Amino acid sequence: MSDTIRITRAATLKPHPKDSELAFGTVFTDHMFRMDYKEGKGWFDPRIEPYAPFLLEPAAAVLHYAQEVFEGLKAFRGVDGKVRLFRPQKHVERMANSAKRMCIPPLDPELALKSFLTLVGVEKEWVPATVGTSLYVRPTIIANEAFLGVRPAHAYLYFVILSPVGAYYPEGMAPVKILVVDKYVRAVEGGVGGVKTAGNYAASLYASEEAKHAGFTQVLWLDGVHRKYIDEVGTMNIMVKIGDEVITPPLTGTILPGVTRDSALTLMREWDLKVSERQISIDEAILAHKQGTLKEVWGTGTAAVISPVGELTYKGEKMVINGGEIGPLTRKLYDAIVAIQYAQAPDAHNWTVEV
Ligand SMILES: *Cc1c(COP(=O)(O)O)cnc(C)c1O
Repeated sequence: MSDTIRITRAATLKPHPKDSELAFGTVFTDHMFRMDYKEGKGWFDPRIEPYAPFLLEPAAAVLHYAQEVFEGLKAFRGVDGKVRLFRPQKHVERMANSAKRMCIPPLDPELALKSFLTLVGVEKEWVPATVGTSLYVRPTIIANEAFLGVRPAHAYLYFVILSPVGAYYPEGMAPVKILVVDKYVRAVEGGVGGVKTAGNYAASLYASEEAKHAGFTQVLWLDGVHRKYIDEVGTMNIMVKIGDEVITPPLTGTILPGVTRDSALTLMREWDLKVSERQISIDEAILAHKQGTLKEVWGTGTAAVISPVGELTYKGEKMVINGGEIGPLTRKLYDAIVAIQYAQAPDAHNWTVEV
């Protein structure tokens, strides 16, 4: 595999939206990264070219059987003006695990990292500067062989696109209302809940639409077997503080191994907090709420960083957490991670990589 990245520049460049007008995933930059795979040849022709629609055969395997994986990470413009990716190696690693589970041939991890860095380097001017805004990086691998048989495809396309995104909380961090669902499930052990693959999200839409129609922001998923243990909140990992203990579900294959989850766990352990990766049932959370020891609940994920949960509703019963206000640890984690991302604080863990 040659890892020289060919660069073809766009003839005309798009206007950049103002930082204050940025939403999520609606605007794409001038260039994209592409690389192809053919059985017997391997991955070939890594290149950066103008962002444009691509041709797919109607019989392309991904359209029928969803053989696909993706990632989501961000580049930030620090207060010093430099552009940095947050923990890109972790995302490369996770994409490799996802690809393996979906029978997609492995990418060279060095080249995958280089694809992020080179593309963001070409599009550096697209990285917005206001704290809270960022350039979202979406690497994706799809099976593009034209073949309707059910087996791993013999041809793939790897591409990376970039989208400048606004602050997740333009009006400041706000607690969300969550519906605990027991009618639908997201994942089971042995399934694909632990990998970032398209089908998981298609399968989750119905439950989250139902929750939205009922006035909730998102759903909290319980485990698929007992419908009892807390798994994830929407497309975020979940953390619950009961008394002095912070609890988050263990990585048993049903939840995504979030990079933000890992960052939050690392920081809290350094702060000498009691942190447990263990199963927690919804009944344990309800009991703690009744006893007044359910202190804070929050989600973790690249998009929001930390998302405070203000209310949980389960079987028609509403639990208000911390009076519906952002808890002190929720706030502290958010501030600490954001400060590292924007180089407002030292990066003691070497989490950021300068572009
Ligand atoms: C991406 C994702 C997360 C969060 O992972 P991060 O690496 O922190 O962004 C959590 N759960 C699901 C289902 C996800 O898709």
